[in-house]
Amino acid sequence: MIKVVDLGKTYINGSLGVEALKGVTLHVEQGQFVAVMGPSGSGKSTFMNLLGLLDRATCGAYQLAGQEVSTLDDNQLAIVRNLRIGFVFQTFNLLPRLSALKNVELPMLYAGIKPSERRQRAAKALERVGLGNRLEHRPNELSGGQNQRVAIARALVNKPAVLLADEPTGALDTRSGEEIMAIFQELHREGATIVLVTHEPDIARHAERQIFFRDGQLVRDEATVNPIDAR
Ligand code: ADP
Ligand code: ADP
Repeated sequence: MIKVVDLGKTYINGSLGVEALKGVTLHVEQGQFVAVMGPSGSGKSTFMNLLGLLDRATCGAYQLAGQEVSTLDDNQLAIVRNLRIGFVFQTFNLLPRLSALKNVELPMLYAGIKPSERRQRAAKALERVGLGNRLEHRPNELSGGQNQRVAIARALVNKPAVLLADEPTGALDTRSGEEIMAIFQELHREGATIVLVTHEPDIARHAERQIFFRDGQLVRDEATVNPIDAR
């Protein structure tokens, strides 16, 4: 599903170049659940931004669901991003004035899906994350864990090829974090391809595979021994 080969990223700040990623090669099969670990500054966010087509690599190749994306122009990238990638962030990134339902409808608005179908699919996605009875609630009327579930429903609603999550449990207490991981594991069992950044080993152990960055390089790649089951 994801194939990156010799991916590199250098940020230019004035005359100074920061080599944030160096020669990263990684294949993620369809249906895999991968945790990305590494110390602060090791390149995790840079890597996720490249996978999510939010930024461009300086060098290297990237195939997403069989399509080479490194050669696409900005408009094409935006289309692929909207249709193929679901994002979940640490701070939820929901629109505060919109209900859960309207927040989840947004990606379908950009995809040009008609209102009745939008509403139906958004309600179904919210039911899937256990929020069928919170459709009209706004973010400030929901807990952190519930807001993250709204964000997951929003990420799923266009049936993306890949779900990318950057520290999705970072703003939550342990119990809500476990509930979120239970949802990711269930999506994984249903066949979703998931790449999740975390610096917490106990969160990473919910994934079947763990990769580690250090100084912009992928330095370890291993199967999780006895993955934690959050059910
Ligand atoms: P992590 O997510 O693992 O904390 P980052 O990908 O954010 O690591 O950062 C990797 C390196 O790239 C760090 O040295 C960071 O300071 C640098 N970096 C990240 N983003 C930028 C940017 N926009 N401009 C310049 N340097 C950056
Ligand atoms: P995270 O918690 O995701 O690792 P960071 O502190 O690494 O967050 O980065 C937060 C944001 O700041 C990111 O968008 C990253 O690209 C940017 N950034 C990180 N380091 C630098 C830097 N040295 N110069 C400019 N922007 C940076």
